[in-house]
Amino acid sequence: MEIQHQSPLFRLLSPDLRLCIYEMILSDPRRLMHIMIFARDLKLVHSWCHDEDSPLPICQHLCYGHPYIDRDAGGYAAQIDLPGSKDGFVNLLLSCRRIYYEALEILYKNNIFHFRGSPRLLAFHKSIPTAQWQAIRYLHMSTTFKPPWPNEAELWHFPADSWEDWDETCALLNGMQLKSLRFDIAHVPRSPSFPVEEMGDKAMIAILEPLKMLEAENFEVEINFRLSSAVEKYFKDAPFAVVFKKRTLSYSPPRGRIRCR
Ligand SMILES: [Zn+2]
Repeated sequence: MEIQHQSPLFRLLSPDLRLCIYEMILSDPRRLMHIMIFARDLKLVHSWCHDEDSPLPICQHLCYGHPYIDRDAGGYAAQIDLPGSKDGFVNLLLSCRRIYYEALEILYKNNIFHFRGSPRLLAFHKSIPTAQWQAIRYLHMSTTFKPPWPNEAELWHFPADSWEDWDETCALLNGMQLKSLRFDIAHVPRSPSFPVEEMGDKAMIAILEPLKMLEAENFEVEINFRLSSAVEKYFKDAPFAVVFKKRTLSYSPPRGRIRCR
């Protein structure tokens, strides 16, 4: 990567104008930027959200794959457009060293990074330098906690968190200068016939307790069941607002080859 000093971009455009251009290309304040793991090679990839109107939880967005019948794989699989292949911002960043240094922070500061459960957040954190991690201002995580505790194998359609990952995630978020921090936590009954309300107070307190040490200008936790009055009272001084929102849960997982997690 060379510095293109002779480029008209630097000669003709003021720094402010260049920053505006970088913002237009590298960020979108209206859409989530999903960080996901491509199943074939386990590499981290990104994808702009294109399923904002879905009635399902964000973790079940079509952004993660379109279930379809794959006879070679012996069942259903999830098909996605290869994430990150269409926005082209990696090409911009790699076009010139000067652009890279001028624009990189915008990528982290101006986007809403969305993670499907703690494992993706932990993997993403490991993959970038500390300065870039600390530049993030908008973060959203969708996750689920299923009985019995802790969770067993992760499922494609319900990204289940483990206690260890959840604690590590909360510790990583502690001290960040976040403008917006959102969690949507779906409690998933064992089957559609089980009531969502089966999650007990003890479990709910264990999930929310580590969030008390976090800070953000806007801090919200969305859940798909009502907190008991005892839990509400326990968290009455918490730095986050708990919002109840009922969303449809899909129980029809794709089977066979999975493209993205
Ligand atoms: Zn999406």
